[in-house]
Amino acid sequence: MSRILIIEDEREIAELEKDYLELSGFEVEIEERGDTGLEKALAGEYDLFILDLMLPEVDGFEICRRIREKKDTPVLMVSARKDDIDKIRGLGLGADDYMTKPFSPSEMVARVKAHLARYDRLIGSRAQANDIIEIRGIRIDKTARRVWVNGEEKAFTNKEFDLLTFLAENPNHVYTKDELFREIWDMESIGDIATVTVHIKKIREKIEFNSAKPQYIETIWGVGYRFKI
Ligand code: CA
Repeated sequence: MSRILIIEDEREIAELEKDYLELSGFEVEIEERGDTGLEKALAGEYDLFILDLMLPEVDGFEICRRIREKKDTPVLMVSARKDDIDKIRGLGLGADDYMTKPFSPSEMVARVKAHLARYDRLIGSRAQANDIIEIRGIRIDKTARRVWVNGEEKAFTNKEFDLLTFLAENPNHVYTKDELFREIWDMESIGDIATVTVHIKKIREKIEFNSAKPQYIETIWGVGYRFKI
């Protein structure tokens, strides 16, 4: 669920925005002061900010500028005056969108959704800079060495990670335990092919819904293992 922070000192407007956004399934928080709003914006995990321009303590210009120093979260700025909007554009503070009060709440929701979608795509395209393997609910980020199973991150030891990644990168290919051992463990390693079995078991416990009936890493009896696509 996307989290939105509204920094707005006019309670009625803030509540109206909140109601509409919550009806659209967003999680919304309100801060009425510029200084506390800025603090929250910088410290918290939000997906979008709705930022009023004229605020007590710290104004929207400053907040936007400070947010941009740290984050590229979308910022939708609102102001009562059209010429303020022109000023914001002119200052190039990095706000993503501007609305003049009074605005229609449904128009605001539509813009919020559009910015969130665009931001998701941006994040997505950036993530592809990492080397990622995705197979049926399993996501392996080779660059960050992290693994998610159906959206939930799972912790893997180095060798488990290497073994899983190797199999997932070479799907539908049956490898013997010997081959896997040689591939993942260097020749100096102490151990034997039983290590492979142990590691496969550990990996299955993390990725399989039912380890007894594996959906990903199949055992090919008498031969070895294969990652099934
Ligand atoms: Ca205001």
